[in-house]
Amino acid sequence: MKNLLDLKIEDLEDYFISIGEKKYKALQVFEWLYIHKEYDINNFTNINKDIRNKLLNDFKINFISIKRREVGDLVKKYLFELEDHNYVEAVLMYHDYGLSVCISSQVGCNMGCKFCESGRLKKVRNLETYEMVEQILLIENDIKDKINNVVVMGIGEPFDNYDNLINFLKIINHPKGLAIGARHITVSTCGIVPKIEEFSNLDLQINLALSLHAPDDETRDKIMPINKVYNISKVMSALKKYISKTNRRVTIEYVMLNMVNDSIEHANKLVLLLKGMNVYVNLIPYNETKNIDFTKSKRIKEFKDILIKNGLNVTVRKEFGGNISAACGQLRSKEV
Ligand code: SAH
Repeated sequence: MKNLLDLKIEDLEDYFISIGEKKYKALQVFEWLYIHKEYDINNFTNINKDIRNKLLNDFKINFISIKRREVGDLVKKYLFELEDHNYVEAVLMYHDYGLSVCISSQVGCNMGCKFCESGRLKKVRNLETYEMVEQILLIENDIKDKINNVVVMGIGEPFDNYDNLINFLKIINHPKGLAIGARHITVSTCGIVPKIEEFSNLDLQINLALSLHAPDDETRDKIMPINKVYNISKVMSALKKYISKTNRRVTIEYVMLNMVNDSIEHANKLVLLLKGMNVYVNLIPYNETKNIDFTKSKRIKEFKDILIKNGLNVTVRKEFGGNISAACGQLRSKEV
């Protein structure tokens, strides 16, 4: 049986039409779920009993659960247990501009980036739409506050779970859903080219971030196996199409790995690759994890200065969450 929290408004409208009802009922259901936070269908009082019974017959509403919370400086990490006893993590961050959550899209990940802890467990399965939605609902309920920003940068490759991802984005963005503004939502991909193309057709102003991490194929091949499938020239041409179609600025993520991708030569190559494009570069200080040998670059400032001198927009990602293993690349699909 499908979870009611899997359905976007259009799906609910189709459902009501299919049972011979008016489609505006879909909005009423959305209001119960996402505005009143009412999860007992029997209490949907403006919907008559016959229809409620149909809903009860056709849908369930059950929740993943918070298995553990860890509190750090301006962050909270949540370990969720899914109904089939798999685990994923999400991170709540207290930014000066509001509350932001980083959510997971898969149990494990198949992309195999050499520096990332999350991918040490191969993909077990995609998350269902409701499992992504509920990460936000449960965190909001836990802190009794509203989330303003969502980044899909937790465990998993969101574009490897494309359909559920899009459903999720539409539910959280809908004004009667969680009403999180599209410009406050960012999806990060390691560069699945056909999905970048599909994403450019989406009629929502959601931000896209690309995990580039190297300016040449030789370096990228060593750290990101996906580069063997979609190399830099393929990814960059997909991005250029995306930008010209959507007119949106793309974030280029670049994790700074000591002696791997952080030389002056790398910086100069990155300038040549990105010059003139509507992008901004987010340099990510590498978060070390005990199972992986890469170390944090010591040349972040020099690297950044070269990019800036050459006219690129650059920021360095704020580091937090490291002390509770809640930082980028440290999340795990494991209980311990
Ligand atoms: N699969 C998506 C979503 C993961 S987002 C993607 O690849 O974009 C997480 C970001 O953190 C990615 O840019 C990822 O490359 C980066 N990252 C992974 N491990 C890291 C680590 N140990 N330190 C810092 N950043 C890391």
